[in-house]
Amino acid sequence: MDVAARIVRLQLAETFVIAREAADYADVVQVSLTHEGVTGHGEAAPIERYDESAESALRFIDDHGALVGDDPFALEDVGERLASIPGEQAAKSALDAALHDLQGKLLGVPVFKLLGLPRTGPPTSWTIWLGDPDDMARRAEGAAQTYRRLKLKLGGDDGLDVERVRAVRGVTDLPLMVDVNEWWSFAEALEALPQLAEIGVEYCEQPLKAGDEGGRALKDRSPVPIYVDEDCHTLADVSGCAEIAHGINIKLGKSGGIREAIRMAHAARGLRMGVMLGCMVESGLGIAAGCCVAPLCDHIDLDGNLLLAEDPWPGVELVDGVQTPSLAPGLGGSPRA
Ligand SMILES: [Mg+2]
Repeated sequence: MDVAARIVRLQLAETFVIAREAADYADVVQVSLTHEGVTGHGEAAPIERYDESAESALRFIDDHGALVGDDPFALEDVGERLASIPGEQAAKSALDAALHDLQGKLLGVPVFKLLGLPRTGPPTSWTIWLGDPDDMARRAEGAAQTYRRLKLKLGGDDGLDVERVRAVRGVTDLPLMVDVNEWWSFAEALEALPQLAEIGVEYCEQPLKAGDEGGRALKDRSPVPIYVDEDCHTLADVSGCAEIAHGINIKLGKSGGIREAIRMAHAARGLRMGVMLGCMVESGLGIAAGCCVAPLCDHIDLDGNLLLAEDPWPGVELVDGVQTPSLAPGLGGSPRA
Protein backbone atom coordinates (compact mmCIF):
# COMPACT_ATOMS: atom_id res chain seq x y z
CA MET A 1 0.00 0.00 0.00
CA ASP A 2 1.12 3.54 -0.69
CA VAL A 3 1.24 5.70 2.44
CA ALA A 4 0.98 9.49 2.47
CA ALA A 5 0.56 11.82 5.47
CA ARG A 6 0.35 15.53 6.20
CA ILE A 7 -0.22 17.88 9.12
CA VAL A 8 -3.54 19.76 9.14
CA ARG A 9 -4.28 22.68 11.48
CA LEU A 10 -7.80 22.69 12.96
CA GLN A 11 -8.99 26.13 14.09
CA LEU A 12 -11.21 26.14 17.16
CA ALA A 13 -14.36 28.25 17.21
CA GLU A 14 -13.36 29.45 20.71
CA THR A 15 -10.36 29.07 23.02
CA PHE A 16 -10.55 25.72 24.80
CA VAL A 17 -9.35 25.66 28.44
CA ILE A 18 -8.70 22.64 30.68
CA ALA A 19 -6.72 22.27 33.92
CA ARG A 20 -3.33 21.92 32.26
CA GLU A 21 -3.59 24.00 29.08
CA ALA A 22 -5.48 26.39 26.79
CA ALA A 23 -5.60 26.25 22.99
CA ASP A 24 -6.95 28.10 19.93
CA TYR A 25 -6.10 25.40 17.44
CA ALA A 26 -5.01 21.78 17.23
CA ASP A 27 -2.69 20.16 14.74
CA VAL A 28 -3.62 16.67 13.55
CA VAL A 29 -2.07 14.31 11.03
CA GLN A 30 -4.15 12.94 8.18
CA VAL A 31 -2.95 9.76 6.51
CA SER A 32 -3.95 8.13 3.21
CA LEU A 33 -3.39 4.49 2.28
CA THR A 34 -3.86 3.54 -1.35
CA HIS A 35 -4.39 -0.04 -2.46
CA GLU A 36 -5.33 -1.09 -5.99
CA GLY A 37 -6.48 2.43 -6.85
CA VAL A 38 -8.69 2.83 -3.75
CA THR A 39 -7.68 5.23 -0.96
CA GLY A 40 -8.54 5.01 2.74
CA HIS A 41 -8.10 7.95 5.11
CA GLY A 42 -7.46 8.24 8.83
CA GLU A 43 -6.57 10.97 11.29
CA ALA A 44 -4.23 11.16 14.26
CA ALA A 45 -4.88 13.54 17.13
CA PRO A 46 -1.57 13.45 19.05
CA ILE A 47 -1.77 13.94 22.82
CA GLU A 48 0.80 16.33 24.28
CA ARG A 49 0.33 14.81 27.73
CA TYR A 50 2.02 11.68 26.35
CA ASP A 51 4.83 13.58 24.59
CA GLU A 52 3.22 13.31 21.18
CA SER A 53 2.93 16.10 18.63
CA ALA A 54 1.75 16.36 15.04
CA GLU A 55 5.43 16.40 14.05
CA SER A 56 6.26 13.24 16.00
CA ALA A 57 3.17 11.49 14.60
CA LEU A 58 4.09 12.49 11.06
CA ARG A 59 7.66 11.25 11.62
CA PHE A 60 6.31 7.91 12.87
CA ILE A 61 4.16 7.49 9.77
CA ASP A 62 7.04 8.51 7.47
CA ASP A 63 9.42 6.09 9.22
CA HIS A 64 7.11 3.16 9.93
CA GLY A 65 4.04 3.56 7.69
CA ALA A 66 5.36 0.79 5.44
CA LEU A 67 4.57 -1.67 8.27
CA VAL A 68 0.96 -1.66 7.01
CA GLY A 69 2.22 -4.03 4.32
CA ASP A 70 0.12 -5.04 1.31
CA ASP A 71 -3.01 -6.61 2.81
CA PRO A 72 -5.50 -4.02 4.09
CA PHE A 73 -7.53 -6.79 5.79
CA ALA A 74 -4.65 -8.11 7.89
CA LEU A 75 -5.50 -5.88 10.86
CA GLU A 76 -4.18 -8.28 13.49
CA ASP A 77 -0.77 -8.65 11.81
CA VAL A 78 -0.51 -4.93 11.06
CA GLY A 79 -1.44 -4.11 14.64
CA GLU A 80 1.25 -6.43 15.99
CA ARG A 81 3.89 -4.92 13.73
CA LEU A 82 2.95 -1.38 14.74
CA ALA A 83 2.76 -2.29 18.44
CA SER A 84 6.33 -3.58 18.29
CA ILE A 85 7.44 0.07 18.13
CA PRO A 86 6.62 1.87 21.39
CA GLY A 87 4.71 5.15 21.63
CA GLU A 88 3.00 7.32 19.00
CA GLN A 89 -0.42 5.79 19.65
CA ALA A 90 -2.19 8.56 17.74
CA ALA A 91 -0.15 7.87 14.60
CA LYS A 92 -0.99 4.17 14.92
CA SER A 93 -4.67 5.03 15.29
CA ALA A 94 -4.55 7.04 12.06
CA LEU A 95 -3.14 4.04 10.19
CA ASP A 96 -5.73 1.74 11.79
CA ALA A 97 -8.56 4.12 10.84
CA ALA A 98 -7.27 4.40 7.27
CA LEU A 99 -7.17 0.59 7.02
CA HIS A 100 -10.78 0.35 8.22
CA ASP A 101 -11.81 3.09 5.76
CA LEU A 102 -10.04 1.26 2.96
CA GLN A 103 -11.66 -2.07 3.85
CA GLY A 104 -15.10 -0.47 3.82
CA LYS A 105 -14.48 1.17 0.47
CA LEU A 106 -13.12 -2.03 -1.07
CA LEU A 107 -16.20 -3.93 0.11
CA GLY A 108 -18.70 -1.10 -0.45
CA VAL A 109 -19.96 -1.02 3.17
CA PRO A 110 -19.75 1.49 6.02
CA VAL A 111 -17.25 0.51 8.73
CA PHE A 112 -19.89 0.08 11.44
CA LYS A 113 -21.47 -2.67 9.31
CA LEU A 114 -18.08 -4.24 8.72
CA LEU A 115 -17.72 -4.44 12.51
CA GLY A 116 -21.20 -5.88 12.97
CA LEU A 117 -22.29 -2.92 15.07
CA PRO A 118 -25.31 -0.62 14.98
CA ARG A 119 -24.85 2.78 13.36
CA THR A 120 -25.00 4.89 16.50
CA GLY A 121 -24.43 4.88 20.24
CA PRO A 122 -25.66 7.18 23.02
CA PRO A 123 -25.82 10.98 22.57
CA THR A 124 -22.55 12.85 22.85
CA SER A 125 -21.82 15.16 25.72
CA TRP A 126 -20.81 18.71 24.97
CA THR A 127 -17.72 19.94 26.78
CA ILE A 128 -18.02 23.03 28.92
CA TRP A 129 -14.39 24.02 29.25
CA LEU A 130 -12.93 25.49 32.40
CA GLY A 131 -13.95 29.00 33.39
CA ASP A 132 -15.52 30.91 36.27
CA PRO A 133 -18.74 29.35 37.62
CA ASP A 134 -20.95 32.06 36.10
CA ASP A 135 -19.22 31.85 32.76
CA MET A 136 -19.56 28.05 32.68
CA ALA A 137 -23.25 28.34 33.59
CA ARG A 138 -23.80 30.86 30.79
CA ARG A 139 -22.13 28.59 28.23
CA ALA A 140 -24.00 25.55 29.56
CA GLU A 141 -27.32 27.34 29.12
CA GLY A 142 -26.51 27.95 25.45
CA ALA A 143 -25.30 24.39 24.86
CA ALA A 144 -28.37 22.89 26.52
CA GLN A 145 -30.40 23.99 23.49
CA THR A 146 -28.50 21.57 21.23
CA TYR A 147 -26.93 18.85 23.37
CA ARG A 148 -28.43 16.19 25.62
CA ARG A 149 -25.62 15.95 28.20
CA LEU A 150 -22.82 18.21 29.37
CA LYS A 151 -19.29 17.40 30.47
CA LEU A 152 -17.71 20.03 32.70
CA LYS A 153 -13.97 20.52 32.83
CA LEU A 154 -12.86 21.05 36.43
CA GLY A 155 -9.50 21.53 38.13
CA GLY A 156 -9.58 25.30 38.57
CA ASP A 157 -7.22 25.09 41.56
CA ASP A 158 -9.24 27.83 43.28
CA GLY A 159 -11.64 25.91 45.55
CA LEU A 160 -14.55 26.68 43.20
CA ASP A 161 -14.91 23.37 41.37
CA VAL A 162 -18.09 22.27 43.18
CA GLU A 163 -19.44 25.81 42.73
CA ARG A 164 -18.88 25.43 38.98
CA VAL A 165 -21.07 22.32 38.89
CA ARG A 166 -23.70 23.94 41.10
CA ALA A 167 -23.83 27.00 38.84
CA VAL A 168 -24.37 24.80 35.78
CA ARG A 169 -26.98 22.67 37.59
CA GLY A 170 -28.77 25.94 38.32
CA VAL A 171 -29.42 26.52 34.61
CA THR A 172 -30.07 23.01 33.26
CA ASP A 173 -31.52 19.62 34.18
CA LEU A 174 -29.40 17.79 31.59
CA PRO A 175 -27.21 14.89 32.77
CA LEU A 176 -23.85 16.31 33.93
CA MET A 177 -20.44 14.67 34.03
CA VAL A 178 -17.17 16.19 35.21
CA ASP A 179 -13.56 15.74 34.11
CA VAL A 180 -10.87 16.84 36.55
CA ASN A 181 -7.91 15.98 34.28
CA GLU A 182 -5.79 14.71 37.22
CA TRP A 183 -6.03 17.98 39.14
CA TRP A 184 -7.34 16.99 42.60
CA SER A 185 -5.46 15.66 45.59
CA PHE A 186 -6.97 12.68 47.38
CA ALA A 187 -8.28 15.04 50.12
CA GLU A 188 -9.83 17.43 47.59
CA ALA A 189 -11.50 14.51 45.81
CA LEU A 190 -12.91 13.13 49.07
CA GLU A 191 -14.38 16.53 49.87
CA ALA A 192 -15.81 17.26 46.44
CA LEU A 193 -17.26 13.88 45.38
CA PRO A 194 -20.08 13.64 47.98
CA GLN A 195 -21.15 17.16 47.01
CA LEU A 196 -21.11 16.19 43.34
CA ALA A 197 -23.23 13.16 44.22
CA GLU A 198 -25.81 15.46 45.80
CA ILE A 199 -25.92 17.55 42.64
CA GLY A 200 -26.51 14.33 40.69
CA VAL A 201 -23.29 14.18 38.66
CA GLU A 202 -23.25 10.98 36.57
CA TYR A 203 -19.52 10.28 36.86
CA CYS A 204 -16.22 11.91 37.69
CA GLU A 205 -13.39 11.46 35.23
CA GLN A 206 -9.78 11.18 36.37
CA PRO A 207 -9.94 13.07 39.67
CA LEU A 208 -6.41 12.01 40.70
CA LYS A 209 -3.11 12.04 38.91
CA ALA A 210 -2.53 8.91 36.82
CA GLY A 211 -0.89 6.27 39.00
CA ASP A 212 -1.88 8.03 42.25
CA GLU A 213 -1.70 5.54 45.09
CA GLY A 214 -5.01 6.82 46.50
CA GLY A 215 -6.98 5.46 43.55
CA ARG A 216 -8.07 2.23 45.19
CA ALA A 217 -9.31 3.94 48.38
CA LEU A 218 -11.08 6.63 46.39
CA LYS A 219 -12.95 4.03 44.34
CA ASP A 220 -14.17 2.43 47.57
CA ARG A 221 -15.27 5.70 49.11
CA SER A 222 -16.60 7.71 46.18
CA PRO A 223 -20.40 8.02 45.95
CA VAL A 224 -19.95 9.02 42.28
CA PRO A 225 -18.64 6.50 39.71
CA ILE A 226 -15.00 7.17 38.89
CA TYR A 227 -13.91 6.88 35.25
CA VAL A 228 -10.23 6.88 34.36
CA ASP A 229 -8.78 8.49 31.26
CA GLU A 230 -5.11 9.36 31.80
CA ASP A 231 -4.77 6.02 33.68
CA CYS A 232 -6.12 3.92 30.82
CA HIS A 233 -4.52 3.70 27.40
CA THR A 234 -4.61 0.18 25.96
CA LEU A 235 -6.02 -3.27 26.68
CA ALA A 236 -3.11 -4.01 29.01
CA ASP A 237 -4.28 -1.22 31.37
CA VAL A 238 -7.92 -2.27 31.71
CA SER A 239 -7.66 -4.91 34.46
CA GLY A 240 -5.55 -2.58 36.62
CA CYS A 241 -8.13 0.16 36.13
CA ALA A 242 -10.83 -2.12 37.54
CA GLU A 243 -9.09 -1.74 40.92
CA ILE A 244 -9.23 2.05 40.92
CA ALA A 245 -12.27 2.94 38.85
CA HIS A 246 -15.84 2.04 37.94
CA GLY A 247 -15.28 2.76 34.27
CA ILE A 248 -12.72 3.59 31.62
CA ASN A 249 -12.49 6.34 29.04
CA ILE A 250 -11.35 4.92 25.70
CA LYS A 251 -9.82 7.24 23.11
CA LEU A 252 -8.55 6.08 19.75
CA GLY A 253 -5.55 8.38 20.14
CA LYS A 254 -4.54 6.40 23.24
CA SER A 255 -5.53 2.88 22.20
CA GLY A 256 -3.83 3.02 18.81
CA GLY A 257 -7.03 2.51 16.87
CA ILE A 258 -10.53 1.08 16.50
CA ARG A 259 -9.45 -2.54 16.84
CA GLU A 260 -7.74 -2.12 20.21
CA ALA A 261 -10.57 0.16 21.40
CA ILE A 262 -13.09 -2.62 20.76
CA ARG A 263 -10.94 -5.09 22.70
CA MET A 264 -10.81 -2.63 25.59
CA ALA A 265 -14.59 -2.19 25.62
CA HIS A 266 -15.12 -5.95 25.82
CA ALA A 267 -12.45 -6.39 28.49
CA ALA A 268 -14.07 -3.66 30.58
CA ARG A 269 -17.46 -5.38 30.28
CA GLY A 270 -15.90 -8.63 31.47
CA LEU A 271 -14.70 -6.75 34.54
CA ARG A 272 -18.18 -5.24 35.02
CA MET A 273 -16.95 -1.73 34.31
CA GLY A 274 -18.63 1.13 32.55
CA VAL A 275 -17.24 2.30 29.21
CA MET A 276 -17.00 5.78 27.86
CA LEU A 277 -15.55 7.01 24.62
CA GLY A 278 -13.66 10.28 24.44
CA CYS A 279 -11.88 12.23 21.76
CA MET A 280 -9.47 15.08 21.23
CA VAL A 281 -9.98 18.12 19.03
CA GLU A 282 -10.42 16.27 15.73
CA SER A 283 -11.98 16.80 12.33
CA GLY A 284 -14.95 14.74 11.16
CA LEU A 285 -12.43 12.18 9.87
CA GLY A 286 -11.18 11.40 13.37
CA ILE A 287 -14.68 11.53 14.83
CA ALA A 288 -16.00 9.14 12.14
CA ALA A 289 -13.53 6.53 13.42
CA GLY A 290 -14.68 7.20 16.99
CA CYS A 291 -18.30 6.67 15.91
CA CYS A 292 -17.40 3.05 15.07
CA VAL A 293 -16.76 2.31 18.76
CA ALA A 294 -19.61 4.42 20.17
CA PRO A 295 -22.30 1.69 20.04
CA LEU A 296 -20.26 -0.32 22.59
CA CYS A 297 -20.15 2.50 25.15
CA ASP A 298 -22.35 3.87 27.96
CA HIS A 299 -21.15 7.44 27.67
CA ILE A 300 -19.97 9.29 24.59
CA ASP A 301 -17.86 12.42 24.45
CA LEU A 302 -17.30 12.89 20.74
CA ASP A 303 -17.58 16.63 20.32
CA GLY A 304 -14.10 17.30 18.86
CA ASN A 305 -15.31 18.29 15.39
CA LEU A 306 -18.17 20.35 16.82
CA LEU A 307 -15.67 22.61 18.59
CA LEU A 308 -14.14 23.69 15.27
CA ALA A 309 -14.69 26.97 13.48
CA GLU A 310 -15.22 24.80 10.37
CA ASP A 311 -14.96 21.00 10.03
CA PRO A 312 -12.61 20.35 7.09
CA TRP A 313 -13.90 16.76 6.77
CA PRO A 314 -17.71 16.77 6.87
CA GLY A 315 -19.57 13.46 7.01
CA VAL A 316 -20.54 12.85 10.62
CA GLU A 317 -23.83 14.51 11.45
CA LEU A 318 -25.14 15.52 14.85
CA VAL A 319 -28.71 14.18 14.87
CA ASP A 320 -30.72 14.94 18.01
CA GLY A 321 -27.49 15.05 20.03
CA VAL A 322 -26.14 11.78 18.58
CA GLN A 323 -22.99 11.75 16.43
CA THR A 324 -24.18 9.82 13.37
CA PRO A 325 -21.75 8.43 10.80
CA SER A 326 -22.44 8.59 7.08
CA LEU A 327 -23.91 5.54 5.28
CA ALA A 328 -21.24 5.83 2.56
CA PRO A 329 -18.67 3.02 2.34
CA GLY A 330 -15.74 3.14 4.75
CA LEU A 331 -15.75 5.90 7.34
CA GLY A 332 -18.03 8.01 5.08
CA GLY A 333 -17.13 11.69 4.89
CA SER A 334 -14.75 13.46 2.55
CA PRO A 335 -12.63 16.60 2.60
CA ARG A 336 -14.48 19.90 2.20
CA ALA A 337 -14.12 21.04 -1.40
MG1 LIG B 1 -10.52 13.25 30.15
